[in-house]
Amino acid sequence: MWLLRIVACCWLLVGSVVDAVPRDASALAIEMTTRYAPYADWSTLVDVDSLARQSQSRYWRTPEEIRSERAEDALPLAGLHLALDPGHIGGRWAADEGRHFRIAEEDYYVREGELVLEVAQRVKSELSALGCKVTLLREENLQVNPKCPIDYLQLAAEQVPEPEACTVAALCEYGRALRARAVRLSIVTGELQERARLVNELIQPDALLSLHINAAAWPMSESESESEREGEREGQGGESNGGVGGFNSDLEDDNSNGFTSDLLSGIKNAFKCDNKNGFIDDIMRDLYGDKGSDGVFVLSESNHLHALIFGCMSAGELQSGHQREQLAVKLVNESGATEFALGDALMTALAEATGLPASTYAGRNAILLDAEQPYVFARNLLMVRMAECPTVLLEPYVANSVAAYPRIQAALANRAAGRSLAEADILVEYADAVIAGVLACYGSVAEVGGNVGDSL
Ligand SMILES: [Zn+2]
Repeated sequence: MWLLRIVACCWLLVGSVVDAVPRDASALAIEMTTRYAPYADWSTLVDVDSLARQSQSRYWRTPEEIRSERAEDALPLAGLHLALDPGHIGGRWAADEGRHFRIAEEDYYVREGELVLEVAQRVKSELSALGCKVTLLREENLQVNPKCPIDYLQLAAEQVPEPEACTVAALCEYGRALRARAVRLSIVTGELQERARLVNELIQPDALLSLHINAAAWPMSESESESEREGEREGQGGESNGGVGGFNSDLEDDNSNGFTSDLLSGIKNAFKCDNKNGFIDDIMRDLYGDKGSDGVFVLSESNHLHALIFGCMSAGELQSGHQREQLAVKLVNESGATEFALGDALMTALAEATGLPASTYAGRNAILLDAEQPYVFARNLLMVRMAECPTVLLEPYVANSVAAYPRIQAALANRAAGRSLAEADILVEYADAVIAGVLACYGSVAEVGGNVGDSL
């Protein structure tokens, strides 16, 4: 009997070891090396053997699963639930977002958040008619995040270095830096986190499309697209000032903490934040300004197109425990494959519709995943990392390019005048290409490439 027990134990032990050998750990390792952390030594931080043993849990379905559940006589996108994220906020926040410009006084302001909201509404209308359930993350040019900048002031105070000198100019600069950080935390980081939370906890779609329009760096300013991306990355610029030690001399005599509190109170008053939705003031305008009003900006010759999906984490980002947890969720639920397939379909449709070349990345913050598909890059942005479902962020056109700017102006002029839209309307072109891409990825085979119409 004891011999039988030993044999049984050995069998169980061997069996458990065999079961524990991950079926696809080597595949996960390849994905880590080629997509999720191609420029970082991830092996000591990410245990692919452990991840491969985790059971899969996901709220979304693959294109194959949705198609297999679709009745033969159903509409071509029946069963699909798509979430659309009109990027940014627009409206009163457009300038604070840095997504607001014009190059001449007589021009219409180009506000990315507002342009992509119309694209999202057009896509929703057309896809709904094809049987798709579509949820927009925002329906207006308003914040989704219920917290306003004042709610982030304390966090901002922890991140902004205190002034080195105790001069009026230095204190004013400090106050402005605090305000800028609080606004950034509210309308960029906090906004993106809230949208991702809604996607994962409430909407739970099969896929998420984040709609944007790119912009090139102005010749004399910081890179627009880079500054936007930096803001969307977490933990950037998280310098801690370690308290109030930077204040000294007579200002510190009474109570240095009290002084800081007074300063924060003064800033709160300046924010006039009684009505959260009404928060804005002229001081903020001074910070961000009206970039085009001086007329010195020159349009870019470059106009291009690309999509971003999750990947390309840096060594520093892999050090973050919560970023590793989010990576683990996406690795285990295998959203990566559908993400690429959806990105591929959307980029094929957008490239065909626009004729635009692929964007390029010079640095190591993004990586091309497939030489055959030059438009799809992996990059670690907050939204594509936090949303657990397959998520694709679209960046067609360069809004401040010689080619796109006049088209955007024509589109805005037609809308302002209530005229019928031009056949080459840039927002209609964008929306129609997205619809074609979604059909190509999720549609019934007979409908792929079909005419989807162009009216709203
Ligand atoms: Zn954008």
